[in-house]
Amino acid sequence: MQLFPGQGRSDGQLMIGGVRAQELAQAYGTPLLAIDYDVLDGSIAAFSQACAPHGIEIAYAGKALLLVALARHLKHTPLDLDVCSLGELRTAERAAFPAERMRMHGCGKTDEELEAAAAGRVGRIIVDNIWELTRLARYGPGRERIRVLIRINTGIEAHTHDFVRTSGEHSKFGFDPAALSEIVPVLQRSARLEFRGLHSHIGSQIYEREAFAENARVLMERAGSLAAAGLVAQELIVGGGFGVAAQPDGETLDLAAIMDAVAQTVREHAYAAGIPAPHVGIEPGRALIAQAGTSLYSVMARKEQFGRKYAIVDGGVYENPRPALYDAYHHIICASREAAEPVETAVCGRTCENDRLGVAELPRDLRAGDLIAMCTTGAYTYSMASNYNRFTRPAVIAVRQGTHELIARRETIEDVLRSDCDV
Ligand code: PLP
Repeated sequence: MQLFPGQGRSDGQLMIGGVRAQELAQAYGTPLLAIDYDVLDGSIAAFSQACAPHGIEIAYAGKALLLVALARHLKHTPLDLDVCSLGELRTAERAAFPAERMRMHGCGKTDEELEAAAAGRVGRIIVDNIWELTRLARYGPGRERIRVLIRINTGIEAHTHDFVRTSGEHSKFGFDPAALSEIVPVLQRSARLEFRGLHSHIGSQIYEREAFAENARVLMERAGSLAAAGLVAQELIVGGGFGVAAQPDGETLDLAAIMDAVAQTVREHAYAAGIPAPHVGIEPGRALIAQAGTSLYSVMARKEQFGRKYAIVDGGVYENPRPALYDAYHHIICASREAAEPVETAVCGRTCENDRLGVAELPRDLRAGDLIAMCTTGAYTYSMASNYNRFTRPAVIAVRQGTHELIARRETIEDVLRSDCDV
């Protein structure tokens, strides 16, 4: 059976980053999220190769997964970093990720988050709405100007699941293009704010190449009208959302073709509008980290009800909410042995929800103690985990070339209780 990059089998047992999954489970317990740094670096290299001919800058969207150790790893790559909260910012700062390589996102920024941008703790801030821009403009003169990009809702409907769509007529994000002129007086009057350019992110798991170029086209139209009003965009960020194959033999994007199309669109529209072509940036999260992640679970029980086979595992909606939230598909395999006689089995978590993680071909004689692997869980799994049912969040480890190390320890019950007021 085909596997994902970085995975293999030895004596039927799953290997991740050159380490037996069983060994990882024994060393760290389950559920466990393993991040293969070689796979991550491979994705970074693939993006870099596609972007380099056009000088397109890449920022990793930290919301997909951010830990101090991961930020430290990313610091040594060519990537910039997007953060969207003080928590993500502090995580990156703990790793001494350079401020000038960071950008602050978010659609409801607190005073502290705006202050972080004003204090130069990030290199740029992506402004979501006029209220935010006005609040930011109130910061008095400072040593450095605050570099501002304006997020626009370009209205592109990328084919993706409704609930993860972040642009289009049903989206809360960014400025309505029709109302964009309101930024002009605010930016022109402020001595502190420096207009750097425009931004738009049109969704997630996008497989249509044209969507990215179309997004760039609409952004360039807006850049043209803002230039006529005296605001010349030097940067154009066309977002993340690059689709990732959820099956080992699934569809992969032609990144070079996408970058070519985006760069060409920007050049052509800049020429037509008589403005300098802005530097282009992208901000993938999932496409960089998803395939690097594999979640390991132990089977706790097996049952058959109304003719359907179930495996109950020691994870669930608390540590991977995406299947329940948006029907996200993750390829699931038996890690402790190959399924000689595979049967369709519903894999469910142990929370008080009907938390089906997915359906997989698992051994007919699956038993308690067998190890299950859920693939491509690097993105939006640990970062979206909660303490539902007062379960503890799993440990996260980094693996590479036969080595492994803990990068987030498993929570304890004391961690879960730590903010309760014991009155
Ligand atoms: N940029 C912004 C503004 C986002 O909101 C997101 C995800 O929601 C991303 C980038 C990353 O998207 P993805 O992980 O699908 O690449």
